[in-house]
Amino acid sequence: MNKLIIASVMAAAISSSNIQAADKNFDYTADRFSDIEVLRYQVPDFNNLTLDQKRLVYYLTEAALWGRDILWDQNYKYNLAIRDLLESVYKNYEGDRNSEQFKAFELYLKQVEFANGIHHHYSMDKFTPGFSREWLQSEIDRLPEGTWTPVQTEVMAAIFDPAVAAKRVNQAAGEDLILTSANNLYEGVTQAEVEAYYDSLKDPNDSTPISYGLNSRLVKKDGKVTEQVYKLDGLYGDAIAHIVDNLTKAMAYAESDAQRLVIARLIDFYTTGDLATFDDYSIRWTEDTASQVDFINGFIESYGDPLGMTGSWESIVNFKNIPASARTETISSNAQWFENNSPVDPRFRKENVKGVSAKVITAAILAGDSYPSTPIGINLPNANWIRAAHGSKSVTLENITEAYDEASHGNGFNEEFVIDKATSDLLDDYLFITDNLHTDLHECLGHASGRLLPGVDPDALKAHGSTLEEARADLFALYYLADPKLLELGLLDNPDAYKAEYYKYMLNGLMTQLMRIEPGKDIEEAHMRNRQLIAKWAFEHGKKDKVVELVRRGGKTFVKINDYRALRDLFGQLLAEVQRIKSEGDYAAGAELVEKYGVKVDRKLHREVLDRYAKLNIAPYRGFVNPVYEATFDDNGVITDVRITYGEDYIPQMLRYSSDYAGLKK
Ligand code: ZN
Repeated sequence: MNKLIIASVMAAAISSSNIQAADKNFDYTADRFSDIEVLRYQVPDFNNLTLDQKRLVYYLTEAALWGRDILWDQNYKYNLAIRDLLESVYKNYEGDRNSEQFKAFELYLKQVEFANGIHHHYSMDKFTPGFSREWLQSEIDRLPEGTWTPVQTEVMAAIFDPAVAAKRVNQAAGEDLILTSANNLYEGVTQAEVEAYYDSLKDPNDSTPISYGLNSRLVKKDGKVTEQVYKLDGLYGDAIAHIVDNLTKAMAYAESDAQRLVIARLIDFYTTGDLATFDDYSIRWTEDTASQVDFINGFIESYGDPLGMTGSWESIVNFKNIPASARTETISSNAQWFENNSPVDPRFRKENVKGVSAKVITAAILAGDSYPSTPIGINLPNANWIRAAHGSKSVTLENITEAYDEASHGNGFNEEFVIDKATSDLLDDYLFITDNLHTDLHECLGHASGRLLPGVDPDALKAHGSTLEEARADLFALYYLADPKLLELGLLDNPDAYKAEYYKYMLNGLMTQLMRIEPGKDIEEAHMRNRQLIAKWAFEHGKKDKVVELVRRGGKTFVKINDYRALRDLFGQLLAEVQRIKSEGDYAAGAELVEKYGVKVDRKLHREVLDRYAKLNIAPYRGFVNPVYEATFDDNGVITDVRITYGEDYIPQMLRYSSDYAGLKK
């Protein structure tokens, strides 16, 4: 498994002061509830696109929004019915909107909308409603005839019974991960049956294997395990028809024949469900680096599947930020130098790093699994052999990181958690640039670096594959952030700049990311495991030389870095080891690393972080509402203009999407 999204919210929780937003008075905050803050992002330069580019963006955004219900259904089989129920009650409610029951209900609705279902988007745990079953039942009874199809007992049980569908994705070792996960990617099959099914399809000698299971639901029917394929005349066909319709319209405004073919192949894939066609599409998509407007649309990342096979539906439409892309182009044009000079065993290095194309993009719409919670960097495609033979496309979503950063000003985080003023000033001056460079290096070099020894199964690291892959990419980025090469290339102007990212990384990995974990729980999510793995490993291995310390001041714990150069050496050593594990497929060593450093939480420190964090009232998770695109058409149905506005609020946007893009209803 090779899943390549990073979604660092921490990065943004530290404020920076050196970034200019397009509109200084822009209202970034859309909503705040529970552990969530919903922001708005700007789309600078949309108005500088050509009319044809705006038309292309418009139809691609429509294709993006039409897939929403697919994701909801993938996440849990009753999610759409539950959403329908909640929204009907919300819209028809005639009682006191300030009553305790209604307030709790509204909070639950907001949580469910944010998570695309009843499970938290990050912890995967089911939300607990703060209103009573009786209250909801009485509101249901009050609904006008025909507003909502009668409640199945399953739906009420899903909302109120903690034992039902408790976890969307369970990663606990030793349990049947399929039976204990509530997602809707499997039905009636055990983990052993799923593994046996796909093992029987896999040909160990196939050097260009398709991504088995990427676009299907695996079910047992009449005692036989079969795939229900997501395609035009298959599962999710109704929503896919709308996606295909808008992709077809978009195709007319493609920027080149190459891009037209990319869209055509995606339509072919949606029509046939054929995964070899998806690979062909992915290759053409990877190789189209000339188009300014670009998109992701399909079943891409498999974090929603405990076995990492089936892709969650998502879409992001974007266009290249040409001035900012000079930075990533510099990095990618030097990719071979970075590979040749990395601290890993030369046997595990790539002799020819192929086509790592990197760019800084402006997101125009976020959809499916990338909405409202969204990544800040993406590297695709995921298929290892395509990456090796055709390279990959790596992007940094800078209008998203800017929005995070702008919204973080004055949140008190630095004052509470950063050890001293000097370090805090360093973060102010250099965290925005080093954080973006970290994302660039992680996505366009880190994931693309290294190679497997011949005959090594790319899935050999199994359930730990995602964590170790993220660790590999992060370590590559951390190691090179401190390299004089970055100054030589003009990417940084101060040899100490890297310290800003190092401090943030250690602080986050050792302490502050714990704000996202509930008391008593351990770390499960792959990126979080990776970050603690790296920070803890470096902390432990540098202990005798006091490279990094946890010190107590005024009754509080602080991260103190005494020797940044030594810390860099430790990152290099761990990179060499993680690359060895990946290259050799050393499952046992990988599992030990993850379990020893990445999973267990220091309960006392955790409690302290939660208490200190609670006082700041900063949301641990953030996401976005989209801008609204309004097209005007002439008498022949041709778009004459596309206008962008930002004023839509969170719940109104969700309600509008539910009614206007109901891809799977009826
Ligand atoms: Zn990554």
